[in-house]
Amino acid sequence: MPRKARTSSEFRDALLKHLTYTMGKDPEHAQFFDWRMALSHAIRDRMVDHWVASTRKTYEQDGKRVYYLSMEFLIGRLLEDGIFNLDMVEEVKEALDHFGMDMRTILNDEPDAALGNGGLGRLAACFLDSLSTIGCPAMGYGIRYENGLFKQSFVDGRQVESPETWLQEPHPWEFERPEVRFTLGFGGDVIYENGKTLWRPAELIQAEAFDTPIIGWQGKWANTLRLWAGRAVDPFDLGLFNAGDFAAAAEHEALARTISRVLYPEDSNEAGKELRLKQEFFFSAASIRDILRRFDSQHDDIRMLPKKVAIQLNDTHPAIAGPEMLRILHDERGLSFEDALEIVHGCMNYTNHTLLPEALERWDERLFGRLLPRHLQIIDRIDDAHYKAHPHRTLSARSDGQVKMGELSFIVANRVNGVSALHTDLMKKTVFRELHELHPDRIVNETNGVTPRRWLHSCNPGLSRLITDTIGEGWVDDLEQLERLEPLIGDKAWIERFETVKSDNKQALASYVAQTHGVKLNTEAMFDVQIKRMHEYKRQHLNILEAIAHWQEIKDNPNGDWTPRVKIFAGKAAQGYHFAKDIIRLINDVAKLVNADAATRDYLQVIFLPNYNVTLAERLIPAADLSEQISTAGKEASGTGNMKFALNGALTVGTLDGANVEIRERVGPENFFLFGMLADEVMQRRMIHDHAQQAINADPRLARALNALRDGTFSPEDPGRYTHIADNLTWSDYFLVCSDFSDYWRAQREVDEAYRNPEKWAEMAALNVARSGWFSSDRTIRGYMCDIWGAESLLA
Ligand SMILES: *Cc1c(COP(=O)(O)O)cnc(C)c1O
Repeated sequence: MPRKARTSSEFRDALLKHLTYTMGKDPEHAQFFDWRMALSHAIRDRMVDHWVASTRKTYEQDGKRVYYLSMEFLIGRLLEDGIFNLDMVEEVKEALDHFGMDMRTILNDEPDAALGNGGLGRLAACFLDSLSTIGCPAMGYGIRYENGLFKQSFVDGRQVESPETWLQEPHPWEFERPEVRFTLGFGGDVIYENGKTLWRPAELIQAEAFDTPIIGWQGKWANTLRLWAGRAVDPFDLGLFNAGDFAAAAEHEALARTISRVLYPEDSNEAGKELRLKQEFFFSAASIRDILRRFDSQHDDIRMLPKKVAIQLNDTHPAIAGPEMLRILHDERGLSFEDALEIVHGCMNYTNHTLLPEALERWDERLFGRLLPRHLQIIDRIDDAHYKAHPHRTLSARSDGQVKMGELSFIVANRVNGVSALHTDLMKKTVFRELHELHPDRIVNETNGVTPRRWLHSCNPGLSRLITDTIGEGWVDDLEQLERLEPLIGDKAWIERFETVKSDNKQALASYVAQTHGVKLNTEAMFDVQIKRMHEYKRQHLNILEAIAHWQEIKDNPNGDWTPRVKIFAGKAAQGYHFAKDIIRLINDVAKLVNADAATRDYLQVIFLPNYNVTLAERLIPAADLSEQISTAGKEASGTGNMKFALNGALTVGTLDGANVEIRERVGPENFFLFGMLADEVMQRRMIHDHAQQAINADPRLARALNALRDGTFSPEDPGRYTHIADNLTWSDYFLVCSDFSDYWRAQREVDEAYRNPEKWAEMAALNVARSGWFSSDRTIRGYMCDIWGAESLLA
C-alpha cells in the first residue's frame, strides 16, 4: 500500500528532528510535553501534505463547497485521531519505543479541546471527520474560545466549576493566519446616502483566522476547521500608556478579546445575553466575508453563488449569517433586494436541534436593534417579501417585540432539517407547523450519526481488531459492512472473543477508576452507564430513583439472587441550573451510602465520574454493558450517545425518543429494552393534573424511594437537602419521571434477567454492533450532500 511507503526509521528521524529543532530539546532531557509536541508536529507534517493537495484540487475542480457554521465544535483530542486516520499507529509506537517512550502515556498528556457543550458540538466534530473521509470540499467555521466548557470537580458531592484552559500550553494543531482578518462592527446608525442605505457601526473589532487541518480516513482528503479569534482594531493606546494609564491603554485589546473568551456553558439557548449575540454575529459575519472573498477570487458573477456555495447553519446560532449576506449583497454590492434574497436563499440551510419552544432562540428587538440596527431592518424586509409571496399569513421572524431566530432561519433557508425521523416528524407538527404548510418541501430529515473512526476504531481497539480480523478493514469507512458479522454471531469461538473484548475493556476502565478515584469496581457486574449533559428531560433522576428503589429491595433481602450492577454516571450541569446540580449531588450522596453498605455492595455500586468530556466518553463507552437513553419521549431531538453505545456492543434501555426509535428498528426490538410512554402519550398524560400522585399511589416502590429523599436517608447531616426534589416530582413532574417509573422498573428487571445469561447477552450485544452501521456520520453526510447541498466528493 502506498501509504506505508515511508519506513519507520524515517518517522523516527522526523520525530527526533522536531524534538531537536521545534522543541529545542535533547532526548536525554525531554519531558512528556516535549515528546508530545514533537510527535504532534511530526504527525501534522504528514497531514499538511494531504491538506495542501486537497486544497489545490478543490481550487482546480471548482466544485461546490460546503461551509458548516457552528457555534460549537467539540473535537476532543487530536493527536490520537490524527495517528489513527493516517494509519500510523504501528509506526508511531515503534518510533516511541525506540526512544523508550510509551505511546499511551503521551497521548494522554494532550488536553481535550472542549469547544462545545454536548451533542450539538460533537455532531459538528463528527461531521468534519466524515466530510474529510468522503472527500467533500468543506470548511467548518466557529469560534476559537480561549476557555472552552468549564472543568467539573466535586466538593462534598457538589459540582464545582473551574475554567478550561486548553490554550494555556502551545496548541500544535492550529495555523495562525494573520493575513486573514476582517473588521466587523456593532451598534452605530443606519444612514441614507445617494439613494443607498448604509450601516455605520460605532464599535469595530477584528476577527482573525486560525486553521486546523481535519484529516479524513487514510489521509485521502483533508479539509479545514477555521476558528475566529477577537482582536482589537487598534490594539494598544500608546498615548494613554505614556501618560501612565496602563489599564486604559490595554482596554481596547481586552474588550475585543472577550468576544472569543468563553463558551456559553448552557446546553439550551441563553436568552438575552448581549455578549452571546455579539459572538453569534462575530463568527457568522467573519465567515460570510471569508466565503464571499473566496468565491470572488474565482468567479465574477455573484449569481453563481448558489451553484458554488452551500452554507449549513448548525442550529439558529449562526442565523444572522443570512441577513448579513443580504446586507453585503444589497447595501454594499448594489444588488436589488429581491435578487440578493434569492441568492442567499439558494445558499443557506438550517438544522433544527430542539422542539422545546422555550429553547428556540429569540432576541429582544431593542437589544438586537442596538447592536445590529441595519439587520433589524433587513429582517423586516425579509418578512415583507415572505408576506407578499404568501399573503393572509402572518408568520414572521419579527413579532411581539422579538426577533425569532428559528422562524428567520426557516424563512431564509432553502432546506430545513431535523436530526431524527421522530424529531423531523414532530417539527412538522409542532414548532414549524404553519411554516411547513406553506413550504411543504422545505423540511427534510437527516438522522444524526457518529464517526466510526473515533467512536469505534480508535476508542475500542480490541473490538476494532476483532472486526477487522473477521471481515477486513473496509468497515472503517463503510460501516454497513458490519452486517457481515451477523453470520458469526452463532459461532461459539467468535462470540467468546467478543465477550473477552468487552471484559478487557471493563477491566481497563476499572483500573482507570481505581487509579484516579480510588474506587474498586466489580468487573463481574453489569456496567450500566448514563453519560450526557445533566438535564431534567434526560432524566438522570429517573435512573437514580430506580437505583434507590433497587437498593431498598436488596436491603430487604440481602441473600436474594440479585444481578450485580455498577451504575456509572457522568455529565456536567450548567452553572445556573440548580436543579440539575442538586441531582448530581444526590447521585454522589447515594453513591457514598450505597457503596459503603456491606449488605448490598456486592450487588450495587454507584459512581459519578467528574468532568465528562470526549476523552472520558472514549474510555467509558467501550466498557458499557447497558446504555441508558431514558429521556421523556418527544424531548431528545436525536441523541448521538445512544449510537456510540450500540456500536460498541452495549444494549440500550430506552424510551421511544429521538434516534432511539431508529436504533431499535435496526437492531431489532428483541435486542433493545423499551419502556415508557410515547411522545403523544406524554402530551396526553400532562393533561391529567395529578399524574404524578396517581403514579406514586400506584407504585409503593416509587413512594418508598421518594420517602428516602424526604427523610434524609442520603443526607443525615442535612435531612432537608432533597425534599425539594421529592416535592418537584410529586407536585409538578413536568418530565413525567413518576409516570414512567413503574415501566422503567419492569424493563430494568428484564435487563437483570437477560444479563444472567451471558451467551445470550453477548449475542444481543453483538447484533447491536452488526446492525449499527447505518449510524455512521458518513451516511448522514452523504444524505446532506445529496438532499441539501448538491455537493460532490472530489475523491476519484
Ligand atoms: C456524544 C457526546 C454527547 C452527546 O450525548 P447524548 O447522550 O446524545 O446527549 C455529549 N457529550 C460528549 C462529550 C459526547 O461525546
